[in-house]
Amino acid sequence: MSTEHSTPSTWREATRAVRGGTERSQFSETSEALYLNSGYVYGSAEEAEAAFDGSRPRYVYSRYANPTVTMFEKRLALMEGAEFARGTAAGMSAVFCSMACFLQAGDRVVASRAIFGSCHYIINDILPKYGIETVFVDGCDHEQWKQALSVKTHAVFVESPSNPTLEVIDLKAVCDLAHESGARVVVDNVFASPSLQHPLDMGADVVVYSTTKHIDGQGRCLGGAVLSNDQPYMEDSLGTYLKHTGPAMSPFNAWVMLKGLETLGLRMDKHCANALQVAKFLSSHDRVERALYPGLPSHPQHELAMQQMRAGGSVVTLDVKGGKSDAFSLLNNLQIVDISNNLGDAKSLATHPATTTHQRMSPEERALVGIGDNMVRVSVGLEDVDDLIEDLDRALRA
Ligand SMILES: *Cc1c(COP(=O)(O)O)cnc(C)c1O
Repeated sequence: MSTEHSTPSTWREATRAVRGGTERSQFSETSEALYLNSGYVYGSAEEAEAAFDGSRPRYVYSRYANPTVTMFEKRLALMEGAEFARGTAAGMSAVFCSMACFLQAGDRVVASRAIFGSCHYIINDILPKYGIETVFVDGCDHEQWKQALSVKTHAVFVESPSNPTLEVIDLKAVCDLAHESGARVVVDNVFASPSLQHPLDMGADVVVYSTTKHIDGQGRCLGGAVLSNDQPYMEDSLGTYLKHTGPAMSPFNAWVMLKGLETLGLRMDKHCANALQVAKFLSSHDRVERALYPGLPSHPQHELAMQQMRAGGSVVTLDVKGGKSDAFSLLNNLQIVDISNNLGDAKSLATHPATTTHQRMSPEERALVGIGDNMVRVSVGLEDVDDLIEDLDRALRA
């Protein structure tokens, strides 16, 4: 046994998940305290002055920082292997602020085309309004990246695996090209979660999460996070931007997420084991045209997925034989799996991307990324997998 003092930086992953970031109050509670407060008091006017001029750093207002949110940020940073983390109100504020905090008119953004509908809206509709040029590429086509990044670029945004087509992007190759072009790479790591994939280790500069998904994992709260090792970016660009624009994570939500992190690894193991079984079952079903899952050898980027991720994730996407009415029939005949556009929940959820999460995209854009009217996305939950397979089988045959 080592006699050296144990510190969070030497703890292994599961220990970080359960104990990282904990700050006990004077009451020595076991579970982390919920500081449900917006403001803080000062013993004197001088103390307030010192807090605001930065000579005595402390909590001043929960739009800037809150002790429960700080515990969540520290724990998530330890689990990601990042030096800094900031919580946000939702995944979308994390995505938006991660880019808006440093981009300006005249800058250029290159993004993979297969991304979540709201991420697409930010890049395709909002950023150009502020004079930012945006370019989409096929994330799996190295030549398209090379060409797009041959022009000086300021930000690259990718989602891997992507929602809902589960494209896996070669993160190291894209980061190398992006860095040559002078771009900061932002990776939306929602589908993998910090339990399965660490994009910073593959060269990414920034990782963003919707903590609404696997980190809460039980469908209770919205939240997001931005992580990076780049101190000027996190403190000067992002920190200042968050402070003055206000997409702060609520302390209550941070507390739920903090407790969610304690069981994230256990839940992800079960999500992935169930999803693999469901994917295997669907891929040989006679009512299914194709089943997509990064953990299946038939997935187009299976080998790359297994290099980048510890396991295949919780989401299986399938094309049913037929069209929209066949996809709707599958959804409408499910008895256990719920119809819902959320994912990463303990409860299995299924949705029709073309008419829900990706409804805003034009039919042409959907066709380009392979979202057909016969596609159904299944977020595989923590139920008994045999019940899920029976439910899917029954609904496919109905
Ligand atoms: C859900 C999701 C988001 C948005 O997160 P919210 O918490 O709903 O704002 C962003 N990216 C991906 C990949 C998602 O699945």
